[in-house]
Amino acid sequence: MLTIDQLHAFEKPARIQYFDTPYPYSCAFLREDEVVPAVSGNKWRKLKYNLLEASNLGFDTLLTYGGAFSNHILATAEAGHLLGFKTIGVIRGDELWNQWQHNPTLQRAHDLGMQFEFVTRTDYRFKDEAAAIKKLEQRFGAFYRIPEGGTNALAVQGCQEILTAQTDPFDFILTPVGTGGTISGLAKSLPMHQEIIGFCALDGAYLAPEIRTFVPHNRWSLNTDFTLGGYGKINADYIRFLNAFYDQTGIPLDPVYTGKMTFGLFDLMAKNAWPANSRLLLIHTGGLQGIQGMNQQLLQKKKPILHYEK
Ligand SMILES: *Cc1c(COP(=O)(O)O)cnc(C)c1O
Repeated sequence: MLTIDQLHAFEKPARIQYFDTPYPYSCAFLREDEVVPAVSGNKWRKLKYNLLEASNLGFDTLLTYGGAFSNHILATAEAGHLLGFKTIGVIRGDELWNQWQHNPTLQRAHDLGMQFEFVTRTDYRFKDEAAAIKKLEQRFGAFYRIPEGGTNALAVQGCQEILTAQTDPFDFILTPVGTGGTISGLAKSLPMHQEIIGFCALDGAYLAPEIRTFVPHNRWSLNTDFTLGGYGKINADYIRFLNAFYDQTGIPLDPVYTGKMTFGLFDLMAKNAWPANSRLLLIHTGGLQGIQGMNQQLLQKKKPILHYEK
């Protein structure tokens, strides 16, 4: 059986990395993406107490859901491999059944032992219904089920460990937002003197009520101005921005989450969105594995690709 000490032993403290901007703010990243090198980014925080719960309940298999480029799918495969769980990924898009080998995210998850179940987009919409779950149990046997994106109460608990004494000197915490688990955990553990701004990767207005179920204060807000039209959507200006930022700072950003937050940061700094001399801490939630898949698509369209050297 797993223990919390065993899980904590995989973690190293996150580094704070400052970067220069032309604006009167002090900006830094909290490199959460480096905390457990074997499991990408904030998904470790979100999985940690779920892994403990799965072990305590006697499960040897994890099952979860995601799209073909999902950071959460890969992180679940990575965590299962690291800790000895079998893993099953229910993947949106049945057309992938004979082409997943060309997808770098799924290829890596497969190499780590994950089994896939490809479902149509329609079936995927009904994935949380009892009948759909039962069908999977008949096929695969008993499993510990983790929702798409990995957000549940145990995930929020894990994300409450991101802010620590070393992040106290900052005034504003900035984080990307997908399903809202990460911002909920951050906000729950937020010191009184700090405020948190979430940058939505997709139109996230629907998220506020769920975040409110976890967070008993109002020192958080959601910004939906920098989705660039939707989840995973990009444009030429944005790619240029990401490459310029990487070339100047050496800090790699993923195009779906941390990139859009940082794009928003520069826009807001130019508009003096915060009092001068504010200290801004950006949570680097990882997702760098997605660069390869994005570049594959950009290459096919003969467009400039994202700079990134591992
Ligand atoms: C999943 C993910 C997020 C979003 O986290 P939520 O808890 O779903 O809001 C942010 N950044 C990266 C890199 C992610 O992979």
